[in-house]
Amino acid sequence: MATKYVYFFGGGKADGKGTMKDLLGGKGAGLAEMTNAGVPVPPGFTITTDVCRYYYANKQKLPKELEAQQKAAMDKLQKIMKKGFGDPKNPLLVSVRSGAKFSMPGMMDTILNLGISEKVTAGLSELTGNERFAWDAYRRFIQMYGNVVAGIEKSDFEHVLEAQKHKRNIKQDTELTVSDLKEVVANYLKVYEKHTGESFPQDPWKQLEGARNAVFKSWNNPRAIYYRKQNKIDDNLGTAVNVQSMVFGNMGDDSATGVGFTRNPSTGNKEFYGEYLTNAQGEDVVAGIRTPRPIVHLGEDIPQAYKELRAITAQLEKKYRDVQDFEFTIEKGRLFMLQTRTGKRTAAAAVKIAVDMVKEKLITKEEALMRVEPEALDQLLHPVIDPKAQLKVIAKGLAASPGAATGRAVFDADSAAERGGKEPVILIRQETNPDDIHGMDAAKGILTARGGMTSHAAVVARGMGRPCVAGCEEIKVSEADKTFRINGTTVKENDWVTIDGSTGRVILGQVPLIDPEISGEFGVFMGWADATRKLKVRANADIPRDAKVAREFGAEGIGLCRTEHMFFAEDRLPFMQQMIVATDVEARKAALAKLLPFQKEDFVGLFREMKGYPVTIRLIDPPLHEFLPKTKEDAEVLSKKIGVPTEKIMQAAEELHEFNPMLGHRGCRLGITYPEITEMQTKAIIGAACDLAKEGIKVVPEIMIPLVGNISELKDQKDVITRIADATIKEAGAKVQYMVGTMIEVPRAAVTADQIAQEAEFFSFGTNDLTQMTLGFSRDDAGKFIKVYLDKKIFKEDPFQTLDQIGVGQLMDGAVKKGRGVKKDLKCGICGEHGGDPASVKFCHRIGLNYVSCSPFRVPIARLSAAQAVIESKAKSGSGYSMK
Ligand code: PEP
Ligand code: MG
Repeated sequence: MATKYVYFFGGGKADGKGTMKDLLGGKGAGLAEMTNAGVPVPPGFTITTDVCRYYYANKQKLPKELEAQQKAAMDKLQKIMKKGFGDPKNPLLVSVRSGAKFSMPGMMDTILNLGISEKVTAGLSELTGNERFAWDAYRRFIQMYGNVVAGIEKSDFEHVLEAQKHKRNIKQDTELTVSDLKEVVANYLKVYEKHTGESFPQDPWKQLEGARNAVFKSWNNPRAIYYRKQNKIDDNLGTAVNVQSMVFGNMGDDSATGVGFTRNPSTGNKEFYGEYLTNAQGEDVVAGIRTPRPIVHLGEDIPQAYKELRAITAQLEKKYRDVQDFEFTIEKGRLFMLQTRTGKRTAAAAVKIAVDMVKEKLITKEEALMRVEPEALDQLLHPVIDPKAQLKVIAKGLAASPGAATGRAVFDADSAAERGGKEPVILIRQETNPDDIHGMDAAKGILTARGGMTSHAAVVARGMGRPCVAGCEEIKVSEADKTFRINGTTVKENDWVTIDGSTGRVILGQVPLIDPEISGEFGVFMGWADATRKLKVRANADIPRDAKVAREFGAEGIGLCRTEHMFFAEDRLPFMQQMIVATDVEARKAALAKLLPFQKEDFVGLFREMKGYPVTIRLIDPPLHEFLPKTKEDAEVLSKKIGVPTEKIMQAAEELHEFNPMLGHRGCRLGITYPEITEMQTKAIIGAACDLAKEGIKVVPEIMIPLVGNISELKDQKDVITRIADATIKEAGAKVQYMVGTMIEVPRAAVTADQIAQEAEFFSFGTNDLTQMTLGFSRDDAGKFIKVYLDKKIFKEDPFQTLDQIGVGQLMDGAVKKGRGVKKDLKCGICGEHGGDPASVKFCHRIGLNYVSCSPFRVPIARLSAAQAVIESKAKSGSGYSMK
């Protein structure tokens, strides 16, 4: 039997099948599948990849059986369409497209309207009653064919078109009249003749031969060869050719064209959604010349086709088990589906659709959980920029804390704090530091020129749920002049500025925002995530207010309370500073004694808010100079407050100055040199737990020692803690349990985790510092060069944002194994910023951590990521759910 080279599709039946991608190419197989499924795609036929391979194996000759098979397919097509190929009275026009097994953008441009000629143009004018449309179709065909088949530069045709517009003194193509188009066509034909030495083919069969052979040739054009090399696609696969009938929505009032979704893509509501135009072509819908009508009215205009469209799209949604975004054309009452694909949707719609489809038994809960991007949940929790708004984007920085904010520019924290209660302000700084917190809290958003994803601004803003764009190096901030400059624009104090912390965009002017709305479906959806995940999710929170937000977002404890943040409040800072400038132990203890009640009160608040959930409290961590005044004027103010001479304060600041504070006197090194600080903090933590225990509220504080690299450091601090804790409990006569553990954030701690685990009752990976120290990248300064690294693709991701799994991750994996080798059930968590990053959360699941901890607003993202991690590993191991 002769080899079958041509596969027909149409009339409800296709010769091929969806599985025949090798032979029919991806597009051809798809068309066959849709046809067999009863979807009325415009009929046509596919010339197989065998023909392409034959063509190259036989010096660019085609198999002799092809012509007859192609002719038979075309005859069938004419019958089904009730039109004639080349018949001026009732012409059948076709499109010709390449289609390899794998989609190869850039291989060959599509040729539309093939079959048109001078005579057919006249016939088409009559049929559509639209002479202009017919001549424009002919013009476009000559241009496409001339370029793709005859290899004439597009610009040669464009010059003709431009010259015509110039002659007539018009700007838009749409302003060209019928006689203009006729002139353009005449000139196009001349271009063609000049280039090829032949006249333009008027015979449709000749056109088809030219287009088909051009597709086979295009398989080996340089763009295609390059693409295959890049994407490791086999050069011998070959391409198929798809010949498909053109259909027209502009054949009268019983014709139409439109686009739609099977559900509302912005709300997720189950409603037929879309728009259409009668007596129009696809372009008219997008071009905005006529206003399209909502799709429900199609039922009044062309009822039968509308009914069919409803039935078919519903069937497609069922078949693909997801929302479909479709394009259709109705030609003289007959419906054709041009395209259907998975519909893009907002986060709110994604959650609603996922939940609804489970209720409709279309998908499983696990599939529903995989249908929503964890990062997209951010859209549900923060205001976003109104998608309809016109934006003047002036710069781009790091998307450091999600959500959008609009407000007046202010350049210092005090102004932000003062004005923030009355009007929206955006705090703009070179970089922020701990004494900017009050301003950050009062501002609607924060913009900094320096600093990376774990810089102060980024970490604090995320904790507060404040939108932040950090490390926007393009802007030149002058805090003194209260301005910033970017590409010749100067933004002054009080100018309106908008930031989008989800994308890093900085926008000039006031922009309308849309507030989030949390739907009932969100709760149901997150409930499924909770039932699926194995990882617990905690939050990084320092004060009761943040802890409350964290609980509302579903946090199951606090994974990191950075106690130093408690010392920056106005009523405590002077005592802290007094403690720092003290020259002897006694003076230091006296200052600490004043801080004690504040600390205790903070912990009581935090424990109460967390209602029995675990709370990990980290002892003081940052270098002390961060607490001291930076200028002489500030030192004078402090001097008056605490009665220490200005010079002495300045001198202390000078002495505490370090060249590399991140690797200096910080972390457990503070507690080791000043044990009285550890003593005070322990007293406050355990004292608070005792007070609550007496009220019948159980809390098990987890006291955490930062920056440990050596077992002896841990031992030293643990001794202080247990001594004071046991004494405090005894004195209070209460029953309180507590744990002492450590952060693993120095590489040495990770590689000696078996030793560390002998003393530690838990591990918490501080991946901000662990990344900094493993990569040797300063977390505050890396923004500058990481941007270049990302542009040059040296790194795929910012390692401060998403965990470097191969490097830092390897240290973590090893540390967990070593630690659990010593203590089988050692509790291990993560509290670096990576704890809220989906890919990193999934990694934490895989290495067997007990929990992740992240800023409160990222808690839902972590909950969903943790659930997806379970589903993905099940799919990998082959049990249960399989990812389609
Ligand atoms: C860390 O280093 O990952 C961490 C959580 O601590 P900090 O960011 O406060 O240094
Ligand atoms: Mg740290």
